Amino acid sequence: MYCYLCRNEYREKPITGYFCIQCKRLQDLLNIYGERVYNVCEEVLVRTEKQQDKKLHTELKKEIEKKEYALRSKIDKTK
Ligand SMILES: [Zn+2]
Repeated sequence: MYCYLCRNEYREKPITGYFCIQCKRLQDLLNIYGERVYNVCEEVLVRTEKQQDKKLHTELKKEIEKKEYALRSKIDKTK
C-alpha cells in the first residue's frame, strides 16, 4: 500500500500507518517544530537551488548569532 502523503513509496506499516519512512519523519518534525516546518518550506524551499543555498546560509547565520548572543548573555549573568 502506498504512502498517503508522497504516494510514491510503500507505507512503513501498511496495517497501522499511513506514511512511508520519510513522510513519517516529516510528520514527527511537524509534531516537534509545528508552524516552523511550514515557514521553512515556504521561505527556504520555494526558490531556485542557488537562492535556496543563499537563504539557508542567511537563516542559519541568524540562528547561530541568536544562540551565541543568548549564550553570551547567560555567561555574563553568571559573572
Ligand atoms: Zn511518503
